[in-house]
Amino acid sequence: MTQLEDDQTRVEERIAKACRQADRARDEVRLLAVSKTRSEAEIRALHRLGQRSFGENYVQEFVAKHDALTGLEPPLEWHFIGALQTNKTRAVAERAAWVHGIDRLKIAERLSRQRPEGMAPLQVCLQVDLSGEPGKAGVPPQEVGPLAASVASLPRLVLRGLMAIPAPTEDPTAQRLPFARLRELRDTLKAQGLDLDTLSMGMSDDLEAAILEGSTLVRIGTALFGPRRPKARQS
Ligand SMILES: *Cc1c(COP(=O)(O)O)cnc(C)c1O
Repeated sequence: MTQLEDDQTRVEERIAKACRQADRARDEVRLLAVSKTRSEAEIRALHRLGQRSFGENYVQEFVAKHDALTGLEPPLEWHFIGALQTNKTRAVAERAAWVHGIDRLKIAERLSRQRPEGMAPLQVCLQVDLSGEPGKAGVPPQEVGPLAASVASLPRLVLRGLMAIPAPTEDPTAQRLPFARLRELRDTLKAQGLDLDTLSMGMSDDLEAAILEGSTLVRIGTALFGPRRPKARQS
């Protein structure tokens, strides 16, 4: 067994176990492989092992990998999970299936306008800042409602749910609190009539806590590919 197969098996076991603990079906949780800083060869290898959805968070790197790997069968599904500046939206609108980090209407409007006619609508999540600290990425919880309503009305986007990256902590009980808040926020929006089926939450160190609180998509890098190497060594 290769290291990658080994890691994939271990992640799969962790997800399955957390689903059993939460009394949820395994297919309620999608595994997104976060491939930032990983080579095309590593992505191809994981794809050969059956992985289809990949996440990137730097636009330039995303574009290069997306374009180099077009034509793989079955096709990859690309998720853009990073911060987006207005001058970079077009490259993402023309390539991604999903965007997880939307926290401003302006970005959403540009993505909708720039989404090519021949492609399916772009699936999006709003990133929520649960830290309460200024300057963090994400929309504050009290502003999610109005933003969600505006984004949901854009013609070429489908608002699927919420995403968050809580501050890291090793205490499994403490890990669950922000995930529970995100779920409650999603439930509030659903009660207001928005059709949201996605909670994009959970990474390598807290996927169990996220699944216990209702995550439908975990974004996993390190646990699948090993520790990230410094960017300088990538080529
Ligand atoms: C890098 C990254 C991940 C994956 O983190 P790991 O701890 O390596 O699993 C998940 N989500 C986002 C937004 C990221 O940037």
